[in-house]
Amino acid sequence: MVGAALALALAREGFDVAVVEPRAPAPWHAEDEVDLRVVALAPSSVDLFVRLNVWKQIASARACGYQRMRVWDALAPGALSFDAADEGRAVLGYIVENRLIQSTLWLALQADARIALHCPAKVAATEAATERRTLTLDDGSMIAAKLVVAADGADSALRDMVGITTSGRDYGQRAIVAHVATERAHESTAWQRFLPGATLAFLPLADGRSSIVWSVPESEAARLLALDDAGFCAELGAAFDFRLGRVTATTQRAAFPLRMKLAERYVAPRLALIGDAAHAVHPLAGQGVNLGLRDVDELCHALIEARDAKRDFAAESVLRRYERRRRSDNALSAHAFDAIQRVFGSDVMPVAALRGASLAIVDKVAPLKRAFARHAAGR
Ligand SMILES: Cc1cc2nc3c(=O)[nH]c(=O)nc-3n(C[C@H](O)[C@H](O)[C@H](O)COP(=O)(O)OP(=O)(O)OC[C@H]3O[C@@H](n4cnc5c(N)ncnc54)[C@H](O)[C@@H]3O)c2cc1C
Repeated sequence: MVGAALALALAREGFDVAVVEPRAPAPWHAEDEVDLRVVALAPSSVDLFVRLNVWKQIASARACGYQRMRVWDALAPGALSFDAADEGRAVLGYIVENRLIQSTLWLALQADARIALHCPAKVAATEAATERRTLTLDDGSMIAAKLVVAADGADSALRDMVGITTSGRDYGQRAIVAHVATERAHESTAWQRFLPGATLAFLPLADGRSSIVWSVPESEAARLLALDDAGFCAELGAAFDFRLGRVTATTQRAAFPLRMKLAERYVAPRLALIGDAAHAVHPLAGQGVNLGLRDVDELCHALIEARDAKRDFAAESVLRRYERRRRSDNALSAHAFDAIQRVFGSDVMPVAALRGASLAIVDKVAPLKRAFARHAAGR
């Protein structure tokens, strides 16, 4: 999603772009079951897709705007609510299938004369020279470019090839995802409940069902995945405090390991990292791809400004400027999600009491609440 968005954004600004991708995304069809992987897109990400001229296709295919967000804790009273109306907006964001975003961007890449697609192909090696960086692909062909952008995800091979190390931690958790039906529809609300050692989100889908992200310790994930559908629905309903009534049906389930992985640097000679290649974060705040799409905006901005000033757009000073603007924001977000995960994952009673109070305080103190809402919206 992030690399494709950058390629489109740069091509639209007149740059010649090559995209290297091992697997073309599967085409999206309305009659297919909703993709198990969905993301909550913040307004800043929707703005970018509008500018790239892909939002209309995405929104008209299948996207569910949500107007409210409710956050509460199983161990303490106190809740936090956000309403789009309080922000003067129609929605707080949209829940969209990853596959729909990927396939829409892919079609746009294919239609753009400034973009050369190398697919299926993988980067096998890279080398920097003074004015160029070369990539050797796994089929032996070579590409030379003024700038290489690594958008190859949390396990970025390019990041390793140029020797950029990462820090972070393995949460020892898995996020279980599924789409579920509930007795009552979702009320166009994104719900999040903190439980001892776990977080549970119910995200609204266009057909009235909810997409769940249930982050639990590895052993608990194995147990929940092994349950039959009826057993799973019963445990899920209880974990969600029956907020939408009983859970009446579920799709198949999938699970993803969770870790925080932050690149120590975002740049190397003639190379920049964006998206999960630079920062993989806990999904509890639903911000991973939104942070990546903000990298896209900032990197584009830096490159265009340098090119328009007739400077080398891949010069170290230009890339460093991008790094300065994004690395601290991404690291701050990642550590904030990490802190929330630690505090809300704890079942130590004084901590639990404190966090109930903190939810209530944020909810009551208007400037603090507005600051949270603005940050989540990417403003
Ligand atoms: C359970 C869960 C829920 C989430 N929910 C949300 C949410 O609600 N909102 C949100 O914003 N984020 C969410 N995220 C995070 C979000 O999914 C990621 O941040 C996002 O997918 C990262 O996109 P990306 O394009 O940077 O990387 P990826 O999606 O990992 O893409 C990497 C690309 O690089 C390609 N590639 C890999 N190796 C090579 C190579 N050697 N050469 C060339 N290409 C290569 C891959 O094929 C792929 O196309 C969630 C994550 C999880 C696990």
